[in-house]
Amino acid sequence: MDHARQAPPAEQFETPACPLCGGNTATPFITAEDDLGGRPGRFHFARCDGCGLAYQTPRLRFEHIGGYYDDEYIAHRKKTDWGMLTPLYTWAMGKHDRDKLALVRRYQSLHAGSRVLDIGCGAGTFLARVKADTGAAACGVDFKDLSGLPWMADLEFRQGTLAEQDFGARRFDLITLWHFLEHDYTPLDTLARARDLLAPGGKLVIEVPRLDSVSFRLFQERWPGLQAPQHTMLFDAATLPRMLEKAGLRVSEHLPYGAFPAYFYLFCGLAFKLLRGRGLDLSKAIYPYFAGQLLLAPVLLFERRLNLAMQTVVCEA
Ligand SMILES: [Zn+2]
Repeated sequence: MDHARQAPPAEQFETPACPLCGGNTATPFITAEDDLGGRPGRFHFARCDGCGLAYQTPRLRFEHIGGYYDDEYIAHRKKTDWGMLTPLYTWAMGKHDRDKLALVRRYQSLHAGSRVLDIGCGAGTFLARVKADTGAAACGVDFKDLSGLPWMADLEFRQGTLAEQDFGARRFDLITLWHFLEHDYTPLDTLARARDLLAPGGKLVIEVPRLDSVSFRLFQERWPGLQAPQHTMLFDAATLPRMLEKAGLRVSEHLPYGAFPAYFYLFCGLAFKLLRGRGLDLSKAIYPYFAGQLLLAPVLLFERRLNLAMQTVVCEA
């Protein structure tokens, strides 16, 4: 793990306008640390006085954020050897992708002629699942190059930002943003571009953490959804649809849960409270993680009704 030992210097930060309404006055809201990576620095979120969006300000300039996406973030998806727990880990990761696919299939039928685009595709395992189960043509965009992973061979991978990609006349039946939008530096541009890339009848599915949720009330400044400094915005149930509508999208469904397991936020929130900014080594936490999941299983059965941590919207052009 590459741990910078000093907080980023002030000149690496910028003071953005509100990413939703462009306003320039905001009220301090909450301060976070890099609870997952354990790197130093305190990062501030404010609420826009105009539209109510919570966003990070000041924030690291885009060219300085890349280091926070290294290794511990994605390496865990590449790691396949977890000792005795390997089958359980493999099952859990596979389940996440199956849950994503099941969710989107409720709103869009996918078959061999369909086209799917995943923005912020990371290691691409979701797209591999889409391709294997539906036969759809699967394309992923991510600013980290993970195209060397074995299952990526069947997929179209494009490195860079969405704005840098030229799809010509190609349009997509399904575009997904799984925990991408809250990281974005130019969310309205991304959403407008995604809207233009939808085929007639196409659906855009977006999952982000939900600020007005049980897990935020429990953990506050240690809420995993703050994920500082990577998260540029914190959406609640009002500001997310407002941003989509501003980008010219029509919200047809808004769910108080996602495919991402809310339990991850419950576990990490508790761990972050105990560790107080020292960073969480997921490889050491794997036993307590699965043990806690077993203990909480009766509660998690009702995850979709409890507004624990996530929200998902389904949009049309
Ligand atoms: Zn605003």
